[in-house]
Amino acid sequence: MVATPIGNLADVTVRALAGFHAADIILAEDTRVTGSLLTAYGIHKKLISLREHNEREMAASVLRWLEEGKIVLQVSDAGTPGISDPGTRLAEAVWAAGLRVVPVVGASAVVGAMSAAGLETGQFHFHGFLPPKSGARCKTLQQWQQAEYAVVCYEAPHRILECVEDIVATLGAERQLVLARELTKTFETFLRLPAAELAARIRADSNQQRGECVLIIDAAPRITQADDALPAPALALLAQLAELLP
Ligand code: SAM
Repeated sequence: MVATPIGNLADVTVRALAGFHAADIILAEDTRVTGSLLTAYGIHKKLISLREHNEREMAASVLRWLEEGKIVLQVSDAGTPGISDPGTRLAEAVWAAGLRVVPVVGASAVVGAMSAAGLETGQFHFHGFLPPKSGARCKTLQQWQQAEYAVVCYEAPHRILECVEDIVATLGAERQLVLARELTKTFETFLRLPAAELAARIRADSNQQRGECVLIIDAAPRITQADDALPAPALALLAQLAELLP
């Protein structure tokens, strides 16, 4: 499983390039996208298409190639295979056959966004893509009302405003968000704002609805030292209110 750049071609690793040179077979999501990466590094290899819909069927061929001693690489269009991308089923089949899967690590949008977001990273939840429809999305978002960890989501640019508006409605106007857009590319942007302010910013600047986005929802605000100092009856009332309020 070979990670490839998520924008900046210079992010390809030396180990990935060595793998491309050595590979007998390279499985790629969109063969044109991976073809351009290989061409940029002067590598010319035949690519075979592997997408979610043919992953299971391809597994039988991959097992045969591996048993013949061939080096088989899988890449997705960008980032790390298997992370909101094809790869998982193939890896499962290879392990189940008693063979080995090797990660050639590199770029992944979730790690890039989290590493620079300036949020607590001790524990975080990676959710991947949120449901595209508002009703289902709000239902998903509600589970993070009291989250003690940040939640990382991938989101399509044409849905980013709707998604942030749903966050305002479900998690509140003040919930801290980080929108990490176009990571590693020319127009890389980090917006770190409370939800309502981020929605206003996106509404005012249509560029914020372009490119590729990672949206991070910070943990719910914790009870501060001052709140801790409140008398017990006040704390009990706050706890009751927290349960009742949406
Ligand atoms: N496997 C990839 C990874 O390891 O990050 C993710 C693949 S997923 C199909 C594509 C999504 O990842 C995009 O819709 C976007 O949410 C996020 N993404 C990919 N590249 C990005 C970039 N350069 N900047 C911000 N988000 C990116």
